[in-house]
Amino acid sequence: LKTKAVLIEDYGEKVHVGEVDLRDPGPGEVLVEIARSGVCHSDLHVVTGDLPLPVPMVLGHEAAGTIRAVGPGVHSARAGESVVLSWIPPCGSCRFCLEGQPQLCTRAASAAMKGKLLGSDAPFSRAGEVVHSFSLTGTLSQYTVVPAQGAIPLPEGVPLDKAALLGCAVMTGVGAALNTAALRPGQSVAVFGAGGVGLSVIQGARIAGASQIIAVDRVPLRLDLARQLGATETLDVNEEDPVDGLLSRTGGYGPDVTFEAIGRPETIVQAFNAVRRGGTAVIVGVAPPHEEISLNSFAFPSQEKTLKGSWYGSSDPGRALPKLARLVRSGQLWLDPMVTKTYDLADAPMAFDDLAEGRVGRPVVHIGL
Ligand SMILES: [Zn+2]
Ligand SMILES: [Zn+2]
Repeated sequence: LKTKAVLIEDYGEKVHVGEVDLRDPGPGEVLVEIARSGVCHSDLHVVTGDLPLPVPMVLGHEAAGTIRAVGPGVHSARAGESVVLSWIPPCGSCRFCLEGQPQLCTRAASAAMKGKLLGSDAPFSRAGEVVHSFSLTGTLSQYTVVPAQGAIPLPEGVPLDKAALLGCAVMTGVGAALNTAALRPGQSVAVFGAGGVGLSVIQGARIAGASQIIAVDRVPLRLDLARQLGATETLDVNEEDPVDGLLSRTGGYGPDVTFEAIGRPETIVQAFNAVRRGGTAVIVGVAPPHEEISLNSFAFPSQEKTLKGSWYGSSDPGRALPKLARLVRSGQLWLDPMVTKTYDLADAPMAFDDLAEGRVGRPVVHIGL
C-alpha cells in the first residue's frame, strides 16, 4: 500500500508531505485509515532535534480513524471499527503492565525510542529503506499500521472528527489533573503553558472542582483559550514574573498544585518555586533529554514540597478513553474550542509553523473520511 505522510528527513529541516510504502499488518497489528491527526509539541521536538528519535520518520501520534484490516491472531479488533490511537500500546506482560502502570510499559518505551512497533520493524519504507514511525503510531499519514492494543475502540457519541485529541493532549492533560495530581474540589491550581496539553490540564482542574485555576503563558491567543476552557485567571509572563504573580494571586502562599506543561527547565523550576509549602508541582511537559534542572535542596525537607512526573496522564489508555468519552458526552469536557484551525494533509507543514509560533490552539489535520 502507498500512503502520503508527513515526513521529517533530518533534524532542523522542515517537514514535508511525501509518499511511502506501508506493509501489511503483522501478527497482533492492525491497519488504520486515519481521519484526523493532531500536531503536538512532541512532533515539533523531533523536527528541532530536541527529541532525538531516529529519522527519517513519519510524524504524528494523536489521531482517530477506522480499522481497515487486522493481522494474524488479532481477535480484539475488527475491520470497520472506529478507533482512537494510543502512543503507548501497553505490551501487557512487562513488570509495569502487570502492576497496573501500563503508561510506564518498558517495551513500548523502548520501541518508541527506536521508531519501531512492538517486536517488529516500523511499517513504513521508501525504496526498500526503513522509514521510522513516531511512538508506534505515525498518524500524520493516510494509513498506518499499529499494535492492535494501540487502537482503542471509539466509544459511542464522540464524533470521529473531534476524537483525535483524546489520544494525546486530553489523555495527558486531563489525566495529569485527575490521576497524577488527584485534584480535589476547592484546590487552587496554576498551569504553566496553555497549549493542547495545558488546556486539557485546565479542563481536568475544572472538572475536579478546583476553585482557582491560573493559566500562565506568553501568547494572548492561548490565554484567551484558557479562559474559555475554565481558567479563572490568567498570567501573561511578558508582563509579570510568574512566581511573584502566582504568590500575589494566592494570598502569598502559592497554589496548592502547579502543573508544568511546556517542557523547559526554567518553567519547571518556576512551577516548583511557586507551589505552596506542602504542595505538589506536577511535571507534564517533555524537556529535551539532555536538559537538567537545579532546585533549592533545603526546600524539600523544610517546605515539604513534592515534585512529581506525569506520563500520558498516569492513564491506562484502554480504560481511560471510555471515561474521557463519557465526560465529552455529559458536556463536561469540551473538545471544540481547543481546535482553532484545521489543515488539509498537503498543508500540514503550515500546522507545524503555526504551532511553533503560537498561532493556534491544537492544530488538527483533516486527512480522510
Ligand atoms: Zn503528544
Ligand atoms: Zn509492558
